[in-house]
Amino acid sequence: MNKKKEQYISEIDLEESNKGKYLELFKSLFNDAESAICIVNFDGKILEANNLFSKMFGYTQDEITGQEYSFLLSEDSQLISFQNHTKIFNGTNILKAEEKVKHKNGTYFYIQTTNLRVNDEDGNKLRITTAINVTGRLKNELLQSVLLQIANLVSKAALNKGFYNSIYKAATQLMPINNFAVCLCNPKANKLEFPFILNEVNVDEKPNLEAEYGYIKKNDNAVLLDEQSIEYLIENSELLNYNITPKTIIGIPLIIQNKIIGAIIIKDYLGKQYTKEHKEVLELVAHQISRVIERKKYEDDLLLAKQEAEEAVRLKSDFLAQISHEIRTPLNSILSFSSLIKNELAGKLDEEIAESFEYIERGGSRLTRTIDLILNVSKIQNQKYKIELSEVNLEDDVLWKIIKELNSRAYEKGIKLELKNGSSPIRLVCDQYSINQMFTNLIDNAIKYTKTGTISVESFVNNYGNIQVDIVDTGIGISTEYMHKIFEPFTQEEQGYTRSYEGIGLGLSLVKSYAELNNAVLKVKSEKNVGSVFSVIFNS
Ligand code: ADP
Repeated sequence: MNKKKEQYISEIDLEESNKGKYLELFKSLFNDAESAICIVNFDGKILEANNLFSKMFGYTQDEITGQEYSFLLSEDSQLISFQNHTKIFNGTNILKAEEKVKHKNGTYFYIQTTNLRVNDEDGNKLRITTAINVTGRLKNELLQSVLLQIANLVSKAALNKGFYNSIYKAATQLMPINNFAVCLCNPKANKLEFPFILNEVNVDEKPNLEAEYGYIKKNDNAVLLDEQSIEYLIENSELLNYNITPKTIIGIPLIIQNKIIGAIIIKDYLGKQYTKEHKEVLELVAHQISRVIERKKYEDDLLLAKQEAEEAVRLKSDFLAQISHEIRTPLNSILSFSSLIKNELAGKLDEEIAESFEYIERGGSRLTRTIDLILNVSKIQNQKYKIELSEVNLEDDVLWKIIKELNSRAYEKGIKLELKNGSSPIRLVCDQYSINQMFTNLIDNAIKYTKTGTISVESFVNNYGNIQVDIVDTGIGISTEYMHKIFEPFTQEEQGYTRSYEGIGLGLSLVKSYAELNNAVLKVKSEKNVGSVFSVIFNS
């Protein structure tokens, strides 16, 4: 061998040994890498899998090498994984994916993969897949989404079977559940109710559920019972005998304000025993259910209270309407006979007696006003009021007439009562009787609650093109605390027998009903001791 050739051969040797060294280095890096990596060829065969990758699936490296990659995948991940594999070999350089995969022990878990295309030294295309187990993250995400689904059930109509069925459906996203029961304690009837029972084995499992609930309650905590503990508890009469004895039971109390109000109970008859982890997840679900039930119960109570309050108001006004009818006829007789006597004796009366007739008239008309108010409210509440629409000139047909009628009352108190209106008349299609009553009440109140100053009634078309009437007074004003109740029937800012103003707190509630009948809204602005503005805005 000449020298040149010798040198050439030794250079190749060196290169080969360097290559060998690098290969060794690469292999050890690949094997001991802190990421799970495998190399897959075009046909989908795993050429190499490092230590972590094999362990992730419960296999040795030897067991996994040479297998089809699809062998690791769950049924539902097969297609998408194949499509991704094709994409990689068709040009996509790097691709991230999420796959549901199967462990050697049969359980499923989720991995996130990063897939990279490389060429080996012979120019063959290979796929390098790095995998991270994301089951925990996904489980957490799923749990959050299920808890949210349960929270959103608040908006469902009632705590009925459909509601618990939705809860059952939500829970099955987290774990396999074939037997699910909800027990709720009814404190009024002092018994346990079962708004939802799903049992694939026992037709009537209520007696068993009662015993299980009793045990959960006694335990004052969530329970996870395996076959042995179930047998033991049956022997000790804590649980009843079953037609078919479950293999595992999880029972979670539903707790509201530190009190157990029920439980959810799931059972497994097949021996795929539930674990502590299942129990923990179910505890979170039960906690959320408790919150929803609590909120629902609170809303139901509120609704009931509202209905009861409305009923009380209705009874009150019905009762008053009844009494008013009774008073009206004799009152009419008293007033007409008193006026008859007054006329008969006209000119023959001394001043004091003549004044007495005035007292009778004033008292009588106050009583008549109150009676009319009560009867009108009752008519509206019983939906007996019939609207008659007509076109009116708001100023001439309504506001002027009221002002003329009430002006003497304002004058007596030394208050100026004025109408401010624009140049062109406002025409309005409305129910004239109720419109009249509405403005009479508002202007009457303005006079009643004003000691000095001016009351102005202003009619105009506002910036939004709507007809608006403002009744502006310089009276006692309304406190912010009372403002939110102002339109409620039988409410007054100052209450009790010693109050300085006459009235029974019905006027504004009637005004509100009349406004609604005429498609108008009411707005109030007020400042204590400065005055108030009541605005009636007609929707066009
Ligand atoms: P009533 O006048 O018979 O008490 P209303 O329903 O007409 O009943 O009014 C309810 C309450 O609203 C009144 O008791 C009063 O406290 C308050 N209120 C109504 N109008 C005015 C006003 N213009 N100025 C001040 N307070 C008012």
